[in-house]
Amino acid sequence: MNASIDPRSVKHPCFNKEASGSCGRVHLPVAPKCNIQCNYCNRKYDCVNESRPGVTSAVLKPFQALEYVKRVLDKEPRITVVGIAGPGDPMANPAETLETMRRIREAFPHMLFCLSSNGLAMPEYVDDLAALGVSHATITMSTVDPAIGAGIYAWVRDGNVVYRGQAAAELLLSRQLAAIEGLKARGLAVKVNAIVMPGVNTQDGGAPLMAVAAKARELGVDLMNMMPLFPTEGTPFGVLAEPGKDEVRALREAAGSLVPQMTHCRRCRADAVGLLCGDRSGELGGVLAACGA
Ligand code: SF4
Ligand code: SF4
Repeated sequence: MNASIDPRSVKHPCFNKEASGSCGRVHLPVAPKCNIQCNYCNRKYDCVNESRPGVTSAVLKPFQALEYVKRVLDKEPRITVVGIAGPGDPMANPAETLETMRRIREAFPHMLFCLSSNGLAMPEYVDDLAALGVSHATITMSTVDPAIGAGIYAWVRDGNVVYRGQAAAELLLSRQLAAIEGLKARGLAVKVNAIVMPGVNTQDGGAPLMAVAAKARELGVDLMNMMPLFPTEGTPFGVLAEPGKDEVRALREAAGSLVPQMTHCRRCRADAVGLLCGDRSGELGGVLAACGA
């Protein structure tokens, strides 16, 4: 199945590969906390929802994020998308995330807004996100089987209650599905990220990942992004092998009959900036640090 480009995504470099050479994104690292613990994540690094390991050079407050966007746009006017992808989970930091979006929406009414979340706390904010004009969202959902999820998540925290094992995975899955439904009902373009974890969700020819694709199709998801696990030292999944390119390609091909597949993801940092093919987070790290000081 080919990704058909809907009008909202013409200038989004991740949802529209054609735009990735001319339209850029800036990720605002305003969300340090997370409400779950994935077995592949080391909190010293960025959220692998949307990133490869590598510390963000600063965490910004909402007013600092606005200043940062202004300065970045001076240097990189090709940016069309402002996203929040960590370094924790945007909706585990709702005050910071919503305030940041409010300020930027006011200053830059035409900017596309994009959020990436594990989905746990997303359902209660879908109205706020739609009202703020968030046009694109990503939910990382690597399995729709709680028995598999029990092996992926060490814990899930909802308010003051911490869940573990299958109960944790069941709760997270129910919120992920509700989040996707809520976002789609409000007209957002939705991407599902699924981390490809050898031996965890790749058994039976990748059947668990195909089940994710089937569910995504059922919910009207616009795009699926199978991201190879980046085994991070010091995490339970640090000992797993990184899936090979051929394996991931075959999985994408198989799932592509169900839902359009992203093939150009760069596993960007939570403070990524610039074109996908020309990240400038190193070069503009000084601007970020200055705004966060
Ligand atoms: Fe880490 Fe992201 Fe998982 Fe939270 S959702 S534990 S930040 S990978
Ligand atoms: Fe786009 Fe992938 Fe980078 Fe996210 S991590 S901004 S989906 S290229």
